[in-house]
Amino acid sequence: MKTQLIKKSRIDGHTILIGLMAYPIRHSMSPTMHNSAFEKLGLNYAYLVFEVTNKELPDAVQAIRALGLRGSNISMPNKQKVIPLLDKLDPAAEMIGAVNTVVNDNGVLTGYTTDGTGFMKALDVEGVNIIDEKMTLVGAGGAGTAIAIQAALDGVKEIALFNRHDAQYETAKRNVEVINAKTKCKATLYDADDKEALRQQISDSVIYCDATSAGMHPLEDVSVIEDPTMFRKDLVVFDTVYAPRETKLMRIAKQAGVERIFNGLGMMLYQGATAFKMWTGEEMPVDYIRELLFNGDQN
Ligand code: NAP
Repeated sequence: MKTQLIKKSRIDGHTILIGLMAYPIRHSMSPTMHNSAFEKLGLNYAYLVFEVTNKELPDAVQAIRALGLRGSNISMPNKQKVIPLLDKLDPAAEMIGAVNTVVNDNGVLTGYTTDGTGFMKALDVEGVNIIDEKMTLVGAGGAGTAIAIQAALDGVKEIALFNRHDAQYETAKRNVEVINAKTKCKATLYDADDKEALRQQISDSVIYCDATSAGMHPLEDVSVIEDPTMFRKDLVVFDTVYAPRETKLMRIAKQAGVERIFNGLGMMLYQGATAFKMWTGEEMPVDYIRELLFNGDQN
C-alpha cells in the first residue's frame, strides 16, 4: 500500500495536456487509447475528458490557448460549433464542415477532421484499395460526411450516396454538391429506402460502407440491408459501428459469403493515431493499442 502511495507519478510540472471536449463523453475509449500510447512511448503528455456542451464551448476553446493545451479532440455536440472559434481550418475539415481535432501551435488553433483519414487508413492497412474505384455509402451524418469527402479527395472514382429522405437528406445533398464541385469524384444521391437503387449501385461497387447508426445500441436489430442477395463474395463490407463488434449488417454479409467484412474499430484506431501524430510528432504504437483496447480482434 505504502509503495503505491510513493510511486512516482507519470504526471509532473512539464506534462503537456490534451483534451476531449464533448457531452456526453465519459464513456469514450480515447483517454485510454492516448494515455496508454503516451506511457508506452514515454511521452510526457496527458489526455483528459472535459464535459463541454455548446454553451461552455467558447470558454473551453479559449482555455486551450490560455492554459497552453497542445490540442483537443472535439466530439458531439461541438464538431460544427467549434469552427468559428478557431484561427485556421484544414481544407478537408472545411469541406466536411466539422472538426474533431484541434492543434494549438503557440496560441494559433487549427481544426482538422481525422474520421475520414481514419477510414481510409483502416482500409489501407487491410490491403483494401478503393482509389479509382466505386463506393456505395449509406449515411450522411458526421461519419458519413467525413468518409464521403475524404474518399473523394483521396481519389475514389465514384460514390453512390444513400440517405433516408429525412433529417440528414439536406446534408447528403450538400455533400454530393461539394464532391462534384471540388473533386474529380462523381457523386450521386439516392434515397436509402429505395432498395432496388441500392442493389443496383452495390452491384458495380468494390465496397459497401454503412455509416449509419443502424446496428449500434439501441438499434442492434436494425440493418439498412436485410437481404443477403444484395451482396457478392468479392464485395468489401465495412460497418463504421464498433460496439457491438459484429453488427446485424456484418452477419448478413457473412451469410452472403462476403470474405472481407470490417467493423469500425480500425477507423476508430486510425482517427486517433492521426491526431496523436499531429500533437506529438510521433507515430502511435497502433499494434500495441489495438491489442490493448480490442484484444487484437479486427472483425
Ligand atoms: P449522426 O451524425 O447522428 O448520423 C447518423 C446517420 O445514420 C444519418 O445519416 C442517419 O440518417 C442514419 N441513420 C440512422 N438510423 C438509420 C436507419 N435506421 N436507417 C438508415 N439510416 C439511418 O451519427 P454519426 O456520428 O455520423 O455516426 C454514425 C455511425 O458511425 C455510428 O454508428 C457511429 O458509431 C459510427 N462512427 C464510427 C466512428 C469510428 O471511428 N469507427 C467514428 C464516428 C462515428 P437519417 O437522416 O435518415 O436519420
